[in-house]
Amino acid sequence: MGTGVLSPARPPFPRLGGVLHCGSHSLEALADEHGTPLYVYDGDRALERLSTVRDAFRGPELLVAYSVKANPNLALLDLFARAGAGADIVSGGELYCALCAGIAAERVVFAGVGKTRDEMRQGLESGIRAFHVESAQELEVLGALASELGREAPVAVRVNPDVDSPTHAFTRTGHARAKFGVSPREALALYRRIADHPHLRAVGVDVHIGSQVREASPFLRALDVILDVAARAGRETGAAIEYVDLGGGFGIEDPVAGELDLPALGREVALRLQKASRPLQLVVEPGRFLVGDAGVLLTRVLYVKRSGGKTFVVTDAGMTELIRPSHYGGEHAITRVREGRQAPAEEVDIVGPVCEQGDFLARGRSLPLPSRGTLLCVHQAGAYAAAMASNYNSRPRAAEVLVHDGRAALVRRRERYSDLVRNERP
Ligand SMILES: *Cc1c(COP(=O)(O)O)cnc(C)c1O
Repeated sequence: MGTGVLSPARPPFPRLGGVLHCGSHSLEALADEHGTPLYVYDGDRALERLSTVRDAFRGPELLVAYSVKANPNLALLDLFARAGAGADIVSGGELYCALCAGIAAERVVFAGVGKTRDEMRQGLESGIRAFHVESAQELEVLGALASELGREAPVAVRVNPDVDSPTHAFTRTGHARAKFGVSPREALALYRRIADHPHLRAVGVDVHIGSQVREASPFLRALDVILDVAARAGRETGAAIEYVDLGGGFGIEDPVAGELDLPALGREVALRLQKASRPLQLVVEPGRFLVGDAGVLLTRVLYVKRSGGKTFVVTDAGMTELIRPSHYGGEHAITRVREGRQAPAEEVDIVGPVCEQGDFLARGRSLPLPSRGTLLCVHQAGAYAAAMASNYNSRPRAAEVLVHDGRAALVRRRERYSDLVRNERP
């Protein structure tokens, strides 16, 4: 581990004296204080990752729009807001959260195939950077609303570049049969309509190909497609395109595959932008890359159970706290918080308490057998973990702690039973 400013990034959640830490805070102490299941975020790590993205795509005109859906906790949004980041949002709720946290509206881009009129109105009234329009009908509704409100709606068409990204079927969004975006051909037709509409203005071209993509080539193919659309929209419709948006999906470290080489991607992107016929701003929308490995989920072992020739480690966290393993086949490293006597490794399923056979954190893992009460750490749980949590089985949602600037703060209290019925009327 280096100490100089130029040393490689320190690994998050280091083991100090045999115990995992977040910064200088022992995860064991945090679990004792706040209970389990518990999400712990390293705010310094999240900001360091923001710098990594900025360095990789460095240039005078870069907008890093954090993809709020990865983790909408206000404390994280607040850190990104102070660091000057923007937001990539997919709902009116996310717009509300981003603005609450102080993210400037002119740095917010609004994606999603199903924006409602009310959500569009919210976006128009707050003055967001652009609507990333995904269909002809959506464009029509947005145009009508903008006329009604006497405003001009800034638009980027989300192009489906028909590139396949080697990732899970549920996170591949850039192939022709995905529900997202429109073909380059249809995009040009939409730019023509925008040019003819007094209350619509074309400002960008957008793409997002998927999540956990670890190769540069699908991004570059997608970029080539949108640069071509941008050039043609300019030539054929007179659109003054200001930016191209490469989307998010930058892959993070995986137990088998490595991490996407972001600096290498950045260099290739810069070369292509230099060749564009007019200067273009670059927008990127990282979610997982910023917060994925900046968070962990702490869970205690409730029981160890052998049945049907298998060994089950039953934990107090399950699909309600982390649905990625069962929904996307997500693989998360799971380690002890305190290094124990090394029991011989056994193959186990680590399962939650939820009444579903699909409720598991990991299957077929080789693990030194833990005992009742052992505190486990589920790694890379900063993205799409708390964000996708549910109250299924009437389980109150877990607490969230943020460590930043040496302090550990409870940034979301654990739900109480009364929270479960708060909106219900008998
Ligand atoms: C989900 C999403 C992202 C972020 O994806 P990550 O894999 O978390 O980086 C970016 N842009 C859009 C439009 C998205 O839907």
